[in-house]
Amino acid sequence: MDCIKIVELEIYANHGLLKEENVLGQKFLVSADLYLDTRKAGKSDEMELSVNYCDVCKLIDSYVKENTHNLIETLSENIAEKILCNYPLVEKVDIEVKKPWAPIGLPLKYVSVNISRSRHTAYISIGSNMGDKEKTIKAAVEELSKDPLITVCKQSELIVTKPYGYEDQDDFLNGALEIKTLYTPEELLEKLHEVEAKFGRVREIHWGPRTLDLDIIMYDCVVMSGEHLTIPHTDMQNREFVLKPLAEIGEYVVHPVFKKTVGQLLSELYTRNKEVSM
Ligand code: ADP
Ligand code: MG
Repeated sequence: MDCIKIVELEIYANHGLLKEENVLGQKFLVSADLYLDTRKAGKSDEMELSVNYCDVCKLIDSYVKENTHNLIETLSENIAEKILCNYPLVEKVDIEVKKPWAPIGLPLKYVSVNISRSRHTAYISIGSNMGDKEKTIKAAVEELSKDPLITVCKQSELIVTKPYGYEDQDDFLNGALEIKTLYTPEELLEKLHEVEAKFGRVREIHWGPRTLDLDIIMYDCVVMSGEHLTIPHTDMQNREFVLKPLAEIGEYVVHPVFKKTVGQLLSELYTRNKEVSM
């Protein structure tokens, strides 16, 4: 991808584990590689279609001067987050923070931390079958949108579906979201659990009634399986209430394990269901 490079911006600031570093300060050199598509800016010569590196330098300069962290890891993390939150055109940033005067009592050129951070695309399924379902779902989407690390890009229509697994309960209202996020998969799950908890979700019966259910269906092309999180969602290919709204906003999104689009998974599910009912 195209890249705008800011190399060794020199900033005098107060980061470090030692008290003297926080009081006396020292020199930091910050580099930032901003990855974005510059094609439209390149063709039109319009500043609005790219990222103004002068503004980014000022943002980095003021953040580094106005804050004090123990670790240059934290400093780098926060610089990356600030840039990604303020510049939606930037898809990825590489940050390097160098500390040429690191007080370790030995001669060295510099120590540095290098990190790479980017936006991720995730698909979330959202469901409710208790209380005012539509109101809960709307409020949950709003709650997610309020988070600076999440942008809700697409939202499907909501569909009414029959309960799955445990059938002695009210119908569900289901939908799907496409989001861009700076959260890792684990952090995103934690965020979804927080939103579920806020809307009074109580985990009693597995697959039982719930005011709100938020699941991660896919996250980039990530394939992972852990104690608390499996991506893509293990049962998505068997759930019409997941695939139907998902197909509305991402028919051509490819399942990274089955190598089939969401649209294909949905039509295969319909075929299987038809065979069972015949
Ligand atoms: P379900 O969503 O299958 O109806 P729950 O919402 O009760 O069931 O989820 C049970 C657990 O499933 C959660 O606590 C979570 O740790 C785990 N889990 C595993 N993979 C995922 C995923 N992709 N999205 C959401 N939860 C997941
Ligand atoms: Mg769930």
